Amino acid sequence: MVSYKELGLVNTREMFAKAIKGGYAIPAFNFNNMEQLQAIIKASAETKSPVILQVSKGARNYANQTLLRYMAQGAVEYAKELGWEHPQICLHLDHGDSFELCKSCVDFGFSSVMIDASSLPYEENIALTKKVVEYAHKYDVTVEAELGVLAGVEDEVSSAVSHYTKPEEVVDFATRTGCDSLAISIGTSHGAYKFTPEQCTRDPKTGKLVPPPLAFDVLDAIMEQLPGFPIVLHGSSSVPQEYVDMINQYGGKLPDAVGIPEEQLRKAAKSAVCKINIDSDSRLAFTAAVRKVFAEKPGEFDPRKYCGPARDLMEELYKHKIINVLGSDGKAE
Ligand SMILES: [Zn+2]
Repeated sequence: MVSYKELGLVNTREMFAKAIKGGYAIPAFNFNNMEQLQAIIKASAETKSPVILQVSKGARNYANQTLLRYMAQGAVEYAKELGWEHPQICLHLDHGDSFELCKSCVDFGFSSVMIDASSLPYEENIALTKKVVEYAHKYDVTVEAELGVLAGVEDEVSSAVSHYTKPEEVVDFATRTGCDSLAISIGTSHGAYKFTPEQCTRDPKTGKLVPPPLAFDVLDAIMEQLPGFPIVLHGSSSVPQEYVDMINQYGGKLPDAVGIPEEQLRKAAKSAVCKINIDSDSRLAFTAAVRKVFAEKPGEFDPRKYCGPARDLMEELYKHKIINVLGSDGKAE
């Protein structure tokens, strides 16, 4: 048993309470490798933003849960070395799908876990979430649950259609499970293809796809039911066109990739939405930078020469999100 407190990590309780009061959201960035983690920590340390490091099931399979945890521990020390005196870093399991997995993360130094039982029938979602909460809370680990279904594909989580969260269920769900935060479905979606061209309209001037707006009426109804309760948005990458264009320019093929417009996320961050998950955007930045080096310097074979620029571009992206979209800069001095 390793407590996250010994590792210098924090859970989400205080972060979320401050974020709701202050009208901003905490970035939740997924990581799978060293360059991504370096970029996240540098961006957070430089902007003094609290940050949630997310490990998905796919990341655990790719990089190994043990190694990822030690990397997160190293990240705390790295942050201090960068001059961030009191780093506010949370290590979070993204989309945990069983009690055993959540338990193993709690036992192994994670400070927060998500139990995603949203694909199960309502009562089963409650039962499983409650079981995870009871265990996690013994160790002061916070728990995110999910109600409603997001469309899209993220690692092993996928669904063809979305079902908005039903506002009439949230009080019962939150009360009976005791969860600390709730991921809801209001039209965000996993992956870089959040919407089909048929779901979008086309800007007559640019020819670019314009996605359908998020269901803010559903969010409002949920906040009315659960005033001040921490709400989480998954699948909230914006799929920046500059990265998509760069990828396509240098030999990639990502036609009609489309995400959530940043002004909608900015609006959400000011509400009870206090955690916004961003993964695809950093994948796009990484790929765009690597493709550029490969296209311009075909003789390059030192991974540091293409992973380095990828890291720089991701850092720029993370800072942009923190400062211009979430508003979490300067909140963890
Ligand atoms: Zn997700």
